[in-house]
Amino acid sequence: MIRSNSYKGKKVAVFGLGLTGVSAALSLAAGGADVFAWDDNDASVDLARERGVKVENLAKVDWSFFDALILSPGIPDKLPRPHWTAIKARKHSIPIICDIELFARQLNLLPYEQKPKVITITGTNGKSTTTALIGHILSYCGKDVEIGGNIGQGIMGLQRMHAGKYYVIELSSYQLERTYSLRSDVAVLLNLSPDHLDRHGRFDNYTDIKKRVFNNQLPQDTAVIGVDTASTKLIFSDLTAKNGRRIIPVSAGKSLGRGVSVVNSRLYSNINGKCVEICDLSKAKALSGRHNHQNAAAAYAAVQSIGLDVIKVGQAILSFSGLPHRMENLGFAGPVMFVNDSKATNSDSTMQALNTYSNIFWIVGGKSKSDGIEPLTHYFKNVTKSYLIGESAPKFHKTLTKYNVEHKISGTLEKAIICATRDAIQSEQPNPVVMLSPSCSSFDQFENFAIRGDAFRSHANRIIELFSKEEIK
Ligand code: ADP
Repeated sequence: MIRSNSYKGKKVAVFGLGLTGVSAALSLAAGGADVFAWDDNDASVDLARERGVKVENLAKVDWSFFDALILSPGIPDKLPRPHWTAIKARKHSIPIICDIELFARQLNLLPYEQKPKVITITGTNGKSTTTALIGHILSYCGKDVEIGGNIGQGIMGLQRMHAGKYYVIELSSYQLERTYSLRSDVAVLLNLSPDHLDRHGRFDNYTDIKKRVFNNQLPQDTAVIGVDTASTKLIFSDLTAKNGRRIIPVSAGKSLGRGVSVVNSRLYSNINGKCVEICDLSKAKALSGRHNHQNAAAAYAAVQSIGLDVIKVGQAILSFSGLPHRMENLGFAGPVMFVNDSKATNSDSTMQALNTYSNIFWIVGGKSKSDGIEPLTHYFKNVTKSYLIGESAPKFHKTLTKYNVEHKISGTLEKAIICATRDAIQSEQPNPVVMLSPSCSSFDQFENFAIRGDAFRSHANRIIELFSKEEIK
């Protein structure tokens, strides 16, 4: 655990006792803070108590003594409606922060020679993949590395800080919004498209929050920026004009005069006037598709200044095994391939999946984002038939009807996968793919995207098993 000393002897309210809340509360208490932790969910309170957190009903205490509110990133403090703890905090002028800010303050307390290196990753899509890939590269090359933040365990649950260690931290906009003093040795911004606007209001506000990943950087630090989206390109120009740090542009598809890019599936580094081929990404099993090429380019740019053996880095990228729920190949029932892309919660991420395959039997739907599936119309040509699940079904039915895409309203994931598999087998098309790529969040039918993906995986595994038994007979 990382001990948080910055609130020693002070009173701190912690609300939201998921993984991050519990590790923040334990870390603060270990650092000498007087912690008052609470959650609206009784089960979370019980679980936190069992793990040694001092719980106290925050609705019944005097807030005027608190020095900070650590509010779980998923809980809104402004839009769509401020949570009651945020209202209380504002009334008493108490700063609202998150566990990443605790990490940053702890880091800032260390003398220079004891500081670990911090690599942070943000963007609308690809954060987890890039974080895991950077972690994999560093560990493959023998570095002492841990990943955390918006992936895996809460950041304060990572092992203690020391020189020579690398923290690779995924940061969501929700976390960045409540982080002020973090300084990253390397900060990566992959891409930007409208997302989470219910929470951030307008796109420019969302963009401003994402840009905070570069805050507090010094001239020796590095900013890695994907230049394949218009808004990140603008940020690249802005930062270049300010000239406050090293800046490495990355692109999947465009050859860059200076930067890291992928052209015809080959990853090239063109930095300091020397162009080097790092690896052939067509050989990377878990990094197919242009979007993953962007992630690989960003990961290489993020580690390139560390002085690793370039050949080893190339090998590490090719040996990356990928993450579940991101275009995860689950196997085959006869000719039909099952792909779990449950993490595709917006149209931009589903676009990557629709662009990677053809003859797709597409399971889509859930709690829709405002733009629905309209941005995907160009890729409908790869869809043989679509199966609608969740509350977005009426809206998506309209779009698919307008663009003449054959579809049916299945309602549940189980019905959808059964129908899609039957249709895919009967279609006699080459290489049919039954794919869950919902382009929606999961909350109307599932607790989160991972539980949705696990449900799809277990249905697919059952079908695959049945099919193999039939074949043996
Ligand atoms: P995040 O952590 O930002 O949500 P993930 O790595 O978990 O990103 O991937 C989420 C989804 O986004 C996956 O379905 C994947 O296909 C898609 N995706 C991954 N990388 C990118 C990228 N660079 N650009 C666009 N979409 C991407």
